[in-house]
Amino acid sequence: RAKKDSRGSFSFFEPGMDARAQARRKIETDLRAALRHDVLRPYYQPLIGLETGLITGCEALVRWPHPERGMISPAEFIPVAEDTGLINAIGAQVLRQACLDAARWPGDVRVAVNLSPLQFRVGNLMATVMDALKQSGLPPRRLELEITETLLLEKSSQVIATLHALRALGVRISMDDFGTGYSSLSYLRSFPFDKIKIDQSFVRGLCDNRDSQAIVRAIISLGMGLGVTITAEGVETEAELSWLRAEGCHEAQGFLFSPARPNDDVKGLLDLQGSSPVTPRDSVRVA
Ligand code: C2E
Ligand code: MG
Ligand code: MG
Ligand code: MG
Repeated sequence: RAKKDSRGSFSFFEPGMDARAQARRKIETDLRAALRHDVLRPYYQPLIGLETGLITGCEALVRWPHPERGMISPAEFIPVAEDTGLINAIGAQVLRQACLDAARWPGDVRVAVNLSPLQFRVGNLMATVMDALKQSGLPPRRLELEITETLLLEKSSQVIATLHALRALGVRISMDDFGTGYSSLSYLRSFPFDKIKIDQSFVRGLCDNRDSQAIVRAIISLGMGLGVTITAEGVETEAELSWLRAEGCHEAQGFLFSPARPNDDVKGLLDLQGSSPVTPRDSVRVA
C-alpha cells in the first residue's frame, strides 16, 4: 500500500520501503504484546525551581524495555502508537501509573504527563483523567498535562472545551516544545494554559548562539506577560543554567540535573530533598 512519508512524497517505489514498513509492523506487534503484558513504565525526570533549587515536579516519560532490543525510545514508538491508535491505551496506562506513583511522593511535588493530540479525539480523555485522579487520590493541582502546539492547529472547540474542563478540575496545562510548532501566536489568547516549556533546541548551545538567546528571551518575556510559568527543557550545562536564571526563567529540566529515572530512584531523591536545594551533584550521588 502506498503511504505518504514525512516529506509528503509517495514512497511506494522507494528502495528500503519494505524494510521500513516491516520494522514498523514489528514495532506495532511488539507494542501490542508490551501492552498486554504491562511492561511499559513511566520514568521520571525532575523539574527544578530556579529560585529555590527544589524539585517542583517530575515529568513522566514512558520507557519500553524490549526483550530483544533493550530500551526503545518513545521517539521511535510513540509515532507508531499514534498511527495505530495504540496511543490511547498507552497514554491512559502512563497517566494512571504516574498518578499512583506521584500520590506517594512527599510534599507538593507535581507530576507532568504528556498527552498526544489523538487522546483529545477519542472523547473519553476527561473520564480517563478523573479515573486516574480518583484511583490514586492525587490532588488535581499536582497533575500537569503537557500538550503540543499541533493540538491547537485544528482550532477545535471540543479541544478548547476539554482544556477548560481539565483546568476547572484544578489540573494544570503545559505547552510543550514551545516554538517548534506551526501555530500562530493568536492561539495563546483562545487556549487556556499555565506553563510554557521552551523547546530544548533553543536551549542547546544557548551561550554561544545569539539567535537562540534572542528567541529564549522573547519567550520568557511573552510568558511573563501572560502570567504563566516558564520552564527551559534540555538544560545540560551550568552556563546555560546561570544564563536562564539571570533572565528570570522559572524552572529548568535537563541532564544537568538528572535524566528520567525509575520511580524508586526519583522517590529516593525526593525523600532526600526535604527542604534543601538539589544541586547537580546531589542528582549524581543518588544515581
Ligand atoms: P518531551 O515531552 O519534550 O520530553 C523531553 C525529552 O527530552 C525526553 O526524551 C527527555 O529524556 C529528553 N531530555 C531531557 N533532558 C534532556 C537534556 O538535557 N538533553 C537532551 N538531549 N535530552 C533531554 P524521551 O524520554 O526520549 O521522550 C521523547 C518524546 O516522546 C517526549 O518529548 C514526548 O513528546 C514523547 N513521550 C514520552 N513519553 C510519552 C508519553 O507517555 N505519552 C506521549 N504522548 N508522548 C510521550
Ligand atoms: Mg513533555
Ligand atoms: Mg518537550
Ligand atoms: Mg520534545
